[in-house]
Amino acid sequence: MDQQITRRGMMKAFLVAGATGAVGLVSTTGQAAPRAPAAKVYDAIILGAGTAGLVAAVEAYDQGIKPVVLEKMDLPAGNSIYALGSVNACGTRMQKQEGVTDSKDDLFSDMMKIAVGQADPALTRIYVEHIGEDADWLQDTIGVKFQKLEKLPYPLLGRIHRVEGGSITGGGKLIRLLLAACTKRNIPILYNTKAVELMTDKNMAVTGVRALTEDGLVDFKSRGGVVIATGGFSANREMLCSYMGGSTSQLALRGSPYVTGENISLTKPLFAKLVHLDQFHCGPIVSATHANPADALNCGYGIIVDLRGKRIIDEINTYVAKARALPNLTSENMAYLLVDSNWAAVNQMATKFTELNTPFFQDDTVEGLAKKAALPVEVVVASVNGYNDALKNNKLKELNPPCSYKNPHAMDKSPFYAFPFEGGITATFGGPKINTNAQVVTWEDKPIGRLYAAGNAAGGLFFRDYIGGSQLGAATVFGRIAARHIAKTCKKDKKT
Ligand SMILES: Cc1cc2nc3c(=O)[nH]c(=O)nc-3n(C[C@H](O)[C@H](O)[C@H](O)COP(=O)(O)OP(=O)(O)OC[C@H]3O[C@@H](n4cnc5c(N)ncnc54)[C@H](O)[C@@H]3O)c2cc1C
Repeated sequence: MDQQITRRGMMKAFLVAGATGAVGLVSTTGQAAPRAPAAKVYDAIILGAGTAGLVAAVEAYDQGIKPVVLEKMDLPAGNSIYALGSVNACGTRMQKQEGVTDSKDDLFSDMMKIAVGQADPALTRIYVEHIGEDADWLQDTIGVKFQKLEKLPYPLLGRIHRVEGGSITGGGKLIRLLLAACTKRNIPILYNTKAVELMTDKNMAVTGVRALTEDGLVDFKSRGGVVIATGGFSANREMLCSYMGGSTSQLALRGSPYVTGENISLTKPLFAKLVHLDQFHCGPIVSATHANPADALNCGYGIIVDLRGKRIIDEINTYVAKARALPNLTSENMAYLLVDSNWAAVNQMATKFTELNTPFFQDDTVEGLAKKAALPVEVVVASVNGYNDALKNNKLKELNPPCSYKNPHAMDKSPFYAFPFEGGITATFGGPKINTNAQVVTWEDKPIGRLYAAGNAAGGLFFRDYIGGSQLGAATVFGRIAARHIAKTCKKDKKT
C-alpha cells in the first residue's frame, strides 16, 4: 500500500469528511486557497496552521492586532490532526464542577518528575499557571466540548480534558474549531506558503519572513513579530539520525509526514539556543493503517515476541518504553503482543483493529495462532509455555528477559490473539529555547528580537516523556502568550 496516499487520504478524512463551514479555507474542499500577496505587512506572522499557530492567530486578533498564518501545505497537515485530543489541565471549571481536588503545585511537580527534573522550571511554572484558564478559553472562545474528565495511568488524577471528536480525532476536531474561529474573524490563512527564511534588521531582530508560494518567493513583513509554530522534526530522518542516532530514524511515524524541522532550520542561522534535540516521545503504531495498540501494550497481560517467536522485553515496561526499544531489539522494528482471553478488554482491541482494517490473528490454540501469524510454531509455543511454567514456579524474574508483572496472569484462556505493532515516534521535544514570553533566546539567553516559538516547535518544556495532554496544552498556553506579547509590542510601538 502506498504510504503517502494512505496518509493523504487520512488527512482529508480528518478535515473534509462530513466537514462543516469550519474547513471553508481548506483548498481540498474545492475552494481555491487564497494566493499569497506580495510584500504584505502584518502585525503578527504565524508560521504553521497547527494548534499553536491557530491559537496564536485567534488570540492576536482578539488582542486587536492583524495576524496572518502561513501554512506550507494545502491544509493544516501537522501532528495536531493525529492527536487524541487530550489536554492536561488543572484549575479548570470542569475540575471544579466534577469535584476534583488538584493543585498547580502538584501539577508542577508531576511535570518536573516525568521530565526527570530536566524541564525548564520557569516554563513549567508558566504552563501550570495558565493551563486552567486556557482550557476554559478553548471551551468558551473556540467552542471545544470536553468529554467527562479522565484519569491517566500517571498521575491518576482527573486532569485529562479530552476534546470530543465525534467521528474524527479530538485533535482533528480542535483544528476544525480553530479554523472556524479564524474564519469568523477573517484571519487570512495562506496555504501552499512555505516559510524558507527569516528576515532581520541590522540588530538581527526579525522583521519578516521569506516564503515560497505558488507565485515564487514572496516577502512578508511583520510589525510585531514572527511565531514559529511549524511543529517538530519527527518526519525529518536526517535530523533524527544526527540528533538521536540511527535507530530512532527507523521508528515509524505516528503523526504527520510534514513536520520536518523548520523550527530548527529557520532559527539556527539566528544563533537560536537549540535544546533537548535528542528528546522525543514514542508509542506503538501499525503504520499502514494507523491502528494504535497502546492500551494493549499497557494491559498487564500477555507476552511480547519478535518475528522469530522469542520474548524480547520485560512486559512490565510502558508502551512508550516498548516502542522506543523496538528498533534496537529487532531488525524489522516489529513485534507481536500475544495475549489470551484472560484480558477482559481483548474483544475491544480486536474490534478496534477490525474497524481500522488492521490484520491481527485469533485462534483457539497457541499453535494455531502462531501458524496464522506466520511465526515459527515451536518457538512461540516454547515462549508461551516458558512464561506459564515460570509463573507457576514463581520464577518470572529469572526468565531472559525477565518478566516483572506485579500481578501476572497465566496465558491459558482461549481464544488467543496476536496483535502486531511497530515502534513509532510521536513527536520531538527539541527546538529553539523560549523564555516565559515565548520569545526565542540565543545561546547567551537573550531574546532574539521579535521572534517567538510555540507548540512542538519550541524547546525547553519537555524531556524524556510527558504527561498525556501536555503537548496540546503547551501549544495553547504558549501560542496565546506569544500573541499577547506581540500585541503589547505593537501597541507600545504605536504610542512612540
Ligand atoms: C498519534 C498522536 C497522538 C497524540 N495525542 C496527543 C494528545 O492527545 N494530547 C497531546 O497533548 N498531544 C498529543 N500528541 C502530540 C500533539 O499532536 C502535538 O504536540 C501537537 O499537535 C503539536 O501542535 P503544533 O501546533 O505545535 O504543530 P503541528 O500540529 O504539527 O502543526 C505544524 C504545522 O506547521 C506547518 N509547517 C511546517 N513547516 C512549515 C513552514 N516552513 N512554513 C509554513 N508552515 C509550516 C505544518 O504543515 C503543520 O501544519 C499526539 C501526537 C500523535 C502523533
